[in-house]
Amino acid sequence: MEWAIEAEGLGKRYERRQALGGVDLAVPPGTVLGLLGPNGAGKTTTVKMLATLLEPDSGRARVAGYDVVRQPAEVRRRIGLAGQYAAVDDMLTGRENLVLIGTLAHLGRRAARVRAAELLERFGLTGAAGRPARTYSGGMRRRLDLAACLVATPSVLFLDEPTTGLDPVSRSQLWDAVKELVTHGVTVLLTTQYLEEADILADRIAVIDTGRIIAEGTPEELKRRAGEERLEVSLTRPESLARAADALRGVAPGEPSVDPAGGTVSITLSDGMESIESAAAALRRADVTVADFALRRPTLDDVFISLTGKTA
Ligand code: ATP
Repeated sequence: MEWAIEAEGLGKRYERRQALGGVDLAVPPGTVLGLLGPNGAGKTTTVKMLATLLEPDSGRARVAGYDVVRQPAEVRRRIGLAGQYAAVDDMLTGRENLVLIGTLAHLGRRAARVRAAELLERFGLTGAAGRPARTYSGGMRRRLDLAACLVATPSVLFLDEPTTGLDPVSRSQLWDAVKELVTHGVTVLLTTQYLEEADILADRIAVIDTGRIIAEGTPEELKRRAGEERLEVSLTRPESLARAADALRGVAPGEPSVDPAGGTVSITLSDGMESIESAAAALRRADVTVADFALRRPTLDDVFISLTGKTA
């Protein structure tokens, strides 16, 4: 299989500090890899090496089929980079920014104008196309920045914390734009500090900590690894806690856990819906009045904390 992004043993030292200690990645074409990690884990260093902005000290990487050290020009021709490197010129209008980039990418003036118009339309910026970028909101700038790195139709896109600081509406507009690119076959490597963002966009997630990949999998696989689903039953009367625990004991393997302070009893769910039905029936038979019946799934936050001991 030809990977869109492939790295083996990528390492980097800054003076005395080992920033990356052997990172391996393999991203299939047309998919999104989420690179998650706490501050200083090595996400930006990884992206910079894959985008040919920084040479690795050890290991090797290929992007869009080309070696990042030996064939950097070929790599650059096929990638886009957005996020912390805003390529937008504040003094130019949205349209001028995109036309300039198209011209620099040797599209030719006419093709650059056509491409700019297409991208302005796609990112909802046609109305603001004639205004200088300095008058744009944060969300509009990010969309212009993303449009700018798509001018030359890259096949691999690096998004380094693309939605940091955006409001929820702008964030979800940007997510939609990224999803659309992926349906057109673009491969995306996304670094983010928002676990929800990785959950929504990423096909697979690699968790990086102190320069090493410490876990990799689909969002669902990682969540399952952090723990099982639990059913949490809140009771209206604390005196029925013991009765509720008795009733739930036969429903799932493992002892129900009782939280007297919270007035809840919870069990681990082994087979999802069936256990929920049996639990409801058992509580009804035991004549226990239930205030709330909630399914608790591990979130990516739980995964992150259990793997790194840190919150994202
Ligand atoms: P953040 O989420 O804070 O951007 P990150 O995961 O992107 O973090 P990197 O920026 O890749 O992390 O940094 C990895 C490590 O390398 C950190 O310990 C950082 O302090 C160090 N580092 C990064 N750039 C340099 C540099 N130019 N010189 C020295 N040390 C550096």
